[in-house]
Amino acid sequence: MSYKNFPMVSRVVFGRGCFNQLEDILAPKRINSKAPFIFFVDDVFKGNAWLTSRIPLSYDDKLVYVSTKEEPKTSQIDELVEDIILSYKDRPSGIIGIGGGSVLDIAKAVAIMLNNDGESKDYQGWDLVQNEAVYHVGIPTISGTGAEVSRTTILTGPERKLGINSDFTPFDQVILDPELTKDVPKDQWFYTGMDCYVHCIESLNGTYLNAFSQSYGEKALELCKEIFLEGDTSDEESQDKLMMASWHGGMSIAYSQVGVAHAMSYGLSYLLGIKHGIGNCIVFDHLEDYYPEGVAVFKQMKKKHNISLPQGICANLSDKEFDIMINVALSLEPLWENAIGKNWKKTITKETLKALYLKM
Ligand code: NAD
Ligand code: ZN
Repeated sequence: MSYKNFPMVSRVVFGRGCFNQLEDILAPKRINSKAPFIFFVDDVFKGNAWLTSRIPLSYDDKLVYVSTKEEPKTSQIDELVEDIILSYKDRPSGIIGIGGGSVLDIAKAVAIMLNNDGESKDYQGWDLVQNEAVYHVGIPTISGTGAEVSRTTILTGPERKLGINSDFTPFDQVILDPELTKDVPKDQWFYTGMDCYVHCIESLNGTYLNAFSQSYGEKALELCKEIFLEGDTSDEESQDKLMMASWHGGMSIAYSQVGVAHAMSYGLSYLLGIKHGIGNCIVFDHLEDYYPEGVAVFKQMKKKHNISLPQGICANLSDKEFDIMINVALSLEPLWENAIGKNWKKTITKETLKALYLKM
């Protein structure tokens, strides 16, 4: 038996307003005046001076707004990397992502691809990256995915939706400023927050569970219950807590794995373009056979916050479409093995999944 020896974020700063320290944090990392910092910022912040006026641009630094209507694609990463390579003689001093899971993943992937040849689709999988990434910084503006702490960057490629999982993926620096999340719309707050909740339930109820994962998972779950059963979006304490729950949830799955909801949600996302957070909610709502307690509490949270999820999304799919979606879900073998056990193929069949998808 060999245990995972995984890398963590090297530096992290936490606190309301700590975003103001960005300039001081970056200054010593500037290689020279020709090697810029590139800031990828969610375009929801376009025109939002409260945030953007605090992004320290000097020399040839560049701010690039990115749309998060769709989740990151390998082709999008390749274009962003090519743009940078064509625009500057020197490699950037650093890549900074400011946004949700989508933008954080874009920053990680671009930082990797600047130092590795070929196309990003060639690196989807485990430990395929050869060279260290460019210095990269993650600044979440919405909490839940754990992308700020994870060893992966999830991309949709021509053939699959799969992460670039590598020792070079984690951020060199993370800035956790809960104040940046204050204007997240309520529905989105719930969907992305539930990503964290589902990470906890899938980790704590999985066969891969161990004391490392459990210790982080239990703390994150306790925080999620406080936030979603007692707190509210607008309450500062809840914002602080959710940012830390996201971190702990990410740490929990780093040393275990996610489960049924994630496997099936990847299928929905690949075929129908349904985003990660809401996709997990749509699936998790029907998983009482797998996570009875977790689903019961989820339904309570949903009710408390008046969230109504889309219904009947698979009603009009063809057999071929079901096949595509089911194959994506079934291909995520470690997720099923964690959820069900080594013999998962005995109970998880195409028919099982089709029956579940039909309920959604
Ligand atoms: P997201 O990044 O797509 O953002 C969701 C929405 O919230 C967007 O419309 C965005 O504009 C908006 N938003 C973000 N911050 C805001 C703010 N402060 N104020 C107002 N609006 C704001 O969603 P997400 O749920 O954070 O991330 C989902 C993505 O993360 C998916 O692509 C998924 O694959 C990925 N993911 C990655 C990991 C990982 O470990 N790398 C883990 C889980 C999910
Ligand atoms: Zn997730």
